[in-house]
Amino acid sequence: MAPTNEGPFVVSEPCPVCHGQGSTTEQPCPTCHGTGVRRFYHGTKANLKPGDPIRPGYSSNFGKGKQASYVYLTGTLDAATWGAELALGEGPGRIYTVEPTGPIEDDPNLTDKKFPGNPTKSYRTREPLRVTGEITAWQGHSPEALKAMKDNVEEAKRLGIEAIDD
Ligand SMILES: [Zn+2]
Repeated sequence: MAPTNEGPFVVSEPCPVCHGQGSTTEQPCPTCHGTGVRRFYHGTKANLKPGDPIRPGYSSNFGKGKQASYVYLTGTLDAATWGAELALGEGPGRIYTVEPTGPIEDDPNLTDKKFPGNPTKSYRTREPLRVTGEITAWQGHSPEALKAMKDNVEEAKRLGIEAIDD
C-alpha cells in the first residue's frame, strides 16, 4: 500500500524529542516509542471522542472480519487517510490522533521486502490506542486513486490474501 502521491502529508513529522532518530543516545526514544514520528494517526469510520479507547478488533479495516489481534496506527496522514477511506462500515471516514498504551511494532503488512524500512510509518499494537483528538482538515484521495486501491483490496480478497494479523 505505497503512497500514490508525493504530497506534503506523505512524510511524517519528526518527533521533537529525538528529532526523528527514534533513539536518544543508547535508548529507544520513549516519547515516540522509538519510531521517530511526532504523532500517530488512526483512520476509521467509527465515531469516537478524545479519551475513547480503540481496541484490537474494534474496527477491522481489511479481511473477512475475523477478530483482529492488533490495532493499527501510523505516523503519516496519508496512511491514515487510506485507513479512513477503506474502513468497513457506514458513514464518513474519520482520522484520529492516538497514543499507544503499550508497546508497538512495525506493521508486517507494510514492511516486507516490497516496502523496506517502513516508509509509511505503519505500526500495530495489542494494547488499546487512546484517542487524543480528531483531524478534520484532511483531504481524501482522488476518486480514481480510491477506486484503484479498492480494486486492489478486492483482488487480494479474491486471491484469498488476508492481512497479516498474527
Ligand atoms: Zn522520539
